[in-house]
Amino acid sequence: PSPLGPTPKLVIDLERLAQLPKEKAGALARYAATIQSQRGDYNGKVLSIRQEDLRSLAVIYDKSPTELTEELINWGVLDPEARRAVESF
Ligand code: C2E
Ligand code: C2E
Ligand code: C2E
Repeated sequence: PSPLGPTPKLVIDLERLAQLPKEKAGALARYAATIQSQRGDYNGKVLSIRQEDLRSLAVIYDKSPTELTEELINWGVLDPEARRAVESF
């Protein structure tokens, strides 16, 4: 087991996401809205997503999962802890 503890979750900051320009974040915002709708989870400030969904988003953004994670950390949408969640990819 990792000395840093269990793999952290991928937690999207929905308030930050809403502040970003659509050209950048539109695809992610639509993806997150779809997951919220599927779960019936509309009131959150954050949304925990599946690791598998980060893979799908990486394809949409034409980046590797690691590159997309760095971008989302730069945007302030993911916590830097998220780096450890994609190490296992
Ligand atoms: P599903 O994948 O068949 O999951 C059915 C239910 O199992 C979910 O209902 C949820 O209560 C539970 N579940 C499945 N995987 C997890 C998990 O990793 N963590 C937790 N806490 N619960 C889990 P729910 O939430 O109402 O979602 C309904 C359907 O919406 C899901 O059916 C799935 O098809 C889709 N969905 C919801 N959230 C996501 C997501 O984050 N990513 C993807 N790809 N699909 C999602
Ligand atoms: P956590 O996963 O660390 O989440 C902490 C808080 O972040 C949650 O407090 C909630 O306010 C928010 N949060 C995280 N992910 C989501 C999300 O996808 N949607 C929304 N709307 N809010 C989110 P909360 O709800 O009081 O839950 C406290 C803890 O209880 C969670 O800590 C988790 O450990 C557990 N928990 C709650 N719901 C589930 C669940 O559906 N599945 C599992 N496995 N654990 C859950
Ligand atoms: P979590 O609920 O704490 O689940 C952690 C991991 O346990 C998930 O990582 C997944 O690998 C596994 N897991 C939990 N429940 C199920 C299940 O019903 N079926 C299967 N096949 N695996 C399950 P993952 O997929 O990366 O998801 C990360 C987090 O995203 C989950 O943490 C939960 O907070 C959220 N999430 C993912 N899918 C759903 C969903 O369908 N509905 C809801 N409400 N939350 C979800």
